[in-house]
Amino acid sequence: MSSEKHCREINMFNIKWLNIQKPGDCHGQTLIEGEYNCTISLSKECSRFNYSIRLSGKTNDTEGKLSKVTVIIPPMKQTPSPNNATSNRGDVQSPPADNTTKILISVLGSFFGVVICTLLVVYRIFFQQVRITLPYPPKPSTSRPSSDQPLLGNDSGKKRVLILHTRCCEKCNHVLHCLGTVLSSTELIEPSIDMWNTLDISPNVPRWYEEQVKTSDCVIVLGSRKMSLRCQNLLEEGDDPLQIKCQLNFVRGNIAKNPDTQKFIPAFFTYNGSKKDIPDFLSYRWSHKLPREVDRVIFHVLNVEKIQPYRTQPIVVMGGNGHPFDEKKKELERAVQEADTYHKCSPQV
Ligand SMILES: [Zn+2]
Repeated sequence: MSSEKHCREINMFNIKWLNIQKPGDCHGQTLIEGEYNCTISLSKECSRFNYSIRLSGKTNDTEGKLSKVTVIIPPMKQTPSPNNATSNRGDVQSPPADNTTKILISVLGSFFGVVICTLLVVYRIFFQQVRITLPYPPKPSTSRPSSDQPLLGNDSGKKRVLILHTRCCEKCNHVLHCLGTVLSSTELIEPSIDMWNTLDISPNVPRWYEEQVKTSDCVIVLGSRKMSLRCQNLLEEGDDPLQIKCQLNFVRGNIAKNPDTQKFIPAFFTYNGSKKDIPDFLSYRWSHKLPREVDRVIFHVLNVEKIQPYRTQPIVVMGGNGHPFDEKKKELERAVQEADTYHKCSPQV
């Protein structure tokens, strides 16, 4: 009881502090009167190590007991924030909070890592590039239609392509024939050329061209210097079954009816033509240089892109693995070389 009474009567405290490790720099004392809370601000270099603190209490009449305490100051944080540098030791609560944040970030990081990996795996499985390889002919000996055999009337599901051209010489005919076989060797395209269909043409020549232009999936218009000259009446008629101007009129009429149609593909062989030989009404379209861009013509016919805009769109792998397409393409290139040489040696052609 008496000590309680004494404690209540204590109204003055003298506090002396001394840093045990740095006694010369970190020491001091203060006297407080009439209050029981005291905050001592320590400089940064003094806020470490252990302190010896002497606290003397005084009542009005009696000197209080002396007691010695040792206060252990927790070690400073490695990276104190500017706000905490001069604050007191109440900040010891913050490290656990930091650990929780770190654990939370680690868990979230791992979670998102797993999610991204899973998405990548799903993408690889379900959105793989779609590659279509050219089918092989069932019987190589009968893969190419013989001449004068009607090409229409079969329901093979192949794209039917008419090749419009103006006749020149035997060498050019051979080039055209090779182009037709390249297309048919893909087993996806059924080409039609007037010189392959003489029996079908003869009953009604204009009707044959009109029907072919109308019903084919695509029409390759092969521009050439000869075509250009014949269209301008600068050269006499050749041995085309129907004047080339009339043939082109069917194309022109078809485009007039349906201006957005993509079925007409302008192209030219570089040995006997150029871009300016493409008929005017097709000149605004992309024209293919043959034989270099024969693959592109096929892509156009099959409506696939050489470079995919997105992975799910199918891409056709041309030839390879001994597919007849490779051989037919080489034959076409050889035919073009021969025709080129022939044209250079025979200026009248
Ligand atoms: Zn020729």
